[in-house]
Amino acid sequence: MENRKGVVLQAHIDMVPQKNEDTGHDFSVDPIRPYIDGEWVTAEGTTLGADNGMGMAACLAVLASKDIEHGPLEVLLTIDEEAGMTGAFGLKEGWLEGEILLNTDSEQEGEIYMGCAGGVDASLTFNLDRQELGGGYVGKTLQIKGLKGGHSGCDIHTGRANANKLLGRFLAGHANELGLRLLSVRGGTLRNAIPREAAADIAVPASNVEKLTSLFNYFESLLTEELGAVETSIALSVLDHDISEQPLTPAVQSRIIAAINACPNGVVRMSDDIAGVVETSLNLGVITTESDKLTLLCLIRSLADSGRSYVESMLKSMGELAGAKVAFSGAYPAGSQIRTQRSCMCSERPMKRSMAACRISW
Ligand SMILES: [Zn+2]
Repeated sequence: MENRKGVVLQAHIDMVPQKNEDTGHDFSVDPIRPYIDGEWVTAEGTTLGADNGMGMAACLAVLASKDIEHGPLEVLLTIDEEAGMTGAFGLKEGWLEGEILLNTDSEQEGEIYMGCAGGVDASLTFNLDRQELGGGYVGKTLQIKGLKGGHSGCDIHTGRANANKLLGRFLAGHANELGLRLLSVRGGTLRNAIPREAAADIAVPASNVEKLTSLFNYFESLLTEELGAVETSIALSVLDHDISEQPLTPAVQSRIIAAINACPNGVVRMSDDIAGVVETSLNLGVITTESDKLTLLCLIRSLADSGRSYVESMLKSMGELAGAKVAFSGAYPAGSQIRTQRSCMCSERPMKRSMAACRISW
């Protein structure tokens, strides 16, 4: 097979380091402790790193094998796939000889995907003006918890709720009516994770505390009614908050609330070519507030680069209407011209254990 086209097997060596709150695990020094639970490989208290350790092991196993027939082979292991793809971006043109690249980072057993969504990070930044808070206010935190969350690539079409959007919806509906003054907003942890939790610290006129609580409780029952088939443990609460910061000016506050509420989110378009496949989507993944700025972070994905540009322009228009500075970074193109094909390769060998591990990991 010396004259066959060369094949490159590719995997990434980084993982998503997540741990349970009750473990003292330190990812920078402690080894992952894998164990076998029935037919699952999993790890004690942490993610396993099967994404993409399993693919990497498969690549190395092919190199080590003495009995797999193959043409010229190369193995490419990249860093930093999860948080910016700087490893892949750093690959020099012409460095690889193979013409066919097999990426081993897919998650469905027995399927080969031809192509991959492109993506880009969007940031909408608001400069904050704050002012003195008058008397008669009480500090509260509006908290949304208990949502399923999930991966913005794998789960965006499943109807799971976005905590940031739910919070924006409540504030857009009731901030003026209740005379709320916004102190800070926060939600989500990663651009590529559907946010499970969000919260706003607010100051509310003492005379409106009761009304606020009853409206927020009503919002919880309304969401349970509306989303309960998918989101089974929605939990909204009004907590006490010690006011130590100045509230945003009413002008900035209303622009920010409008932006969170108007920000497009979720599936923008399904593929015309493959039933059930999302073509273009975005996720309002993270909201952070510092003393002088508030930032909304979105991740846009599309199988069509033009679809990605469309959502970019939509976010830019919306952000600029709201007076935000809108920036895009880390763009990568859709992975193939072949948007319309996917072939299925039924595996003869059982792969259940290893694939299961991959699904556990992220
Ligand atoms: Zn991966």
